[in-house]
Amino acid sequence: MLRLLRWLFTGDGHLHKWVRIGVIGVFEKDGDSTPVAKMVTQECEHCGKIKTFKIKN
Ligand SMILES: [Zn+2]
Repeated sequence: MLRLLRWLFTGDGHLHKWVRIGVIGVFEKDGDSTPVAKMVTQECEHCGKIKTFKIKN
C-alpha cells in the first residue's frame, strides 16, 4: 500500500495535472504592439514540474 502511494505521488507514474501559472507575450522586435506568439508556463499540481511552450497567435 505504501509503495503504491509512493509510486502515485513521487514516481513518474502519475498523469501530470497542468495548471497554467503564467502567460507572456512574445514580440518579434522591441516596440511591437501586438505579440506574434504567447509563451505559456504550466506547473504540475502533483509534482511541481514546470513546462513552457509557445502558442502562435
Ligand atoms: Zn506531475
